[in-house]
Amino acid sequence: MARHVASIDVYERGVDPREADGQAGRSINLALAARGIRALQTAGVMPHIEPLLVPMRGRMIHDVDGSTEFQRYGQRDDEQIYSVSRGHLNQVLLNAAEERGNVNIHFQQEALGYDSSRCTAQFRDRNNDRDYEIAAAPLIAADGAGSVIRGSYSGSNLIGASRSLSQHGYKELAIPAGSGGKFQLDPGALHIWPRGGFMLIALPNPGGDFTLTLFLANEGEQSFSTLTDEQSVTAFFESHFADAAALIPDLCNAVINNPLGMLGTVRCRHWHDAGNMLLIGDAAHAVVPFHGQGMNLAFEDCVLFEQIFADIGADWERVFENFESTQLTNANAIADMALENYVEMRDTVRDPKYALQKELAFELERRLPDRFIPRYSMVMFHADIPYRVAKDRGAIQQHLLEQLTSDAEKIDQIDLDVAVATVIEQLDPVNGGKACALILKR
Ligand SMILES: Cc1cc2nc3c(=O)[nH]c(=O)nc-3n(C[C@H](O)[C@H](O)[C@H](O)COP(=O)(O)OP(=O)(O)OC[C@H]3O[C@@H](n4cnc5c(N)ncnc54)[C@H](O)[C@@H]3O)c2cc1C
Repeated sequence: MARHVASIDVYERGVDPREADGQAGRSINLALAARGIRALQTAGVMPHIEPLLVPMRGRMIHDVDGSTEFQRYGQRDDEQIYSVSRGHLNQVLLNAAEERGNVNIHFQQEALGYDSSRCTAQFRDRNNDRDYEIAAAPLIAADGAGSVIRGSYSGSNLIGASRSLSQHGYKELAIPAGSGGKFQLDPGALHIWPRGGFMLIALPNPGGDFTLTLFLANEGEQSFSTLTDEQSVTAFFESHFADAAALIPDLCNAVINNPLGMLGTVRCRHWHDAGNMLLIGDAAHAVVPFHGQGMNLAFEDCVLFEQIFADIGADWERVFENFESTQLTNANAIADMALENYVEMRDTVRDPKYALQKELAFELERRLPDRFIPRYSMVMFHADIPYRVAKDRGAIQQHLLEQLTSDAEKIDQIDLDVAVATVIEQLDPVNGGKACALILKR
């Protein structure tokens, strides 16, 4: 935006993370993939981000007995995702915004609401608890999943937002670096301890430590509500995550006292109020974190917004309309895929049939790279394939994989010529990546 308009004011509820040790935000690290990387390249900040990245080539699956199995994410060497610290990423982006000279960032200014009839936003200055109002049209609301700006429209049909909260929550834990700053697990992987109804994951940080996240039901027999004392936490971790537990210092205290995070999906009928207000990022479309795409999607919003703005100029209503009509179905598609991926991560990855289907999918991609791209790869490594296309093609591909592997236990029991012919019959080429124009054969 700073490239296109004279000046921008950013109002942020929190303190300046550059002065607060960079610990703003909920999860400490995030998985960055192709869509996010494209946005950071477009913004010209990638050289500052690259040194912060830890590449992850695949998943390391940890079984209850302590054995591990590595599953590659993609088959090409450049098909990897990257762990990045949320705090450091925020710092780089804030510096880059300020360096442009026309972005004024006001910290500790909390939005209280938006009056759409007068196009004014109400704020509280947290330095002195003073409330004030500013004229704000256009206002671009990027205030996250619990957006108060979105909430200002709750009584009207203009936005039509719904927020469905998951019955599962999460807590973050940590494995520190070992002696001499060494990683205590393989740093080239995203680690998963899948246990059917719940899971633990770990992402590496550049300092040699890992951030862990336990995803578990909030209530019920095996749930956060039962992990309330040392005995219950120790018994739970000993029976499900014994190898990880041995690496987490102060485990019981962390599990009992660390905050319980909520997970949910936000869907809206509309994201804008004429040319006055636009929701963007999680405020418009929060998704559950199981595809590691919420931030990547929010960054994709920024790339798309800039493209549309560069085409149309400051006709805000048309810009907002175009943005919504292109991206809303994509956001809904990744919201669905992210929900599906929870089951894949916590359960399906352990199924031998899943491994066989993945092997076959890679083989078909090798033979027909313009027609068959595994759905995970379309989402994570192909920034030019819209999420909705990934979802639609993914459904057709999954059906094919299930059919082709129904009587097989090993790949050499599958007639690959028949498999190739079936793919050619059912899927058109992805059109050189210009998948918007894709016509699906059903
Ligand atoms: C456990 C977990 C793991 C995740 N892992 C990944 C991952 O691996 N990869 C990935 O791509 N995504 C991941 N995500 C999703 C990702 O965190 C979000 O999609 C992303 O942060 C959205 O960015 P945003 O700027 O829209 O919102 P946010 O990051 O929520 O930022 C909103 C900003 O608005 C400010 N704000 C809020 N309310 C107000 C107010 N009233 N007034 C003023 N300012 C306000 C906040 O302080 C904050 O700075 C994960 C999410 C969770 C919960």
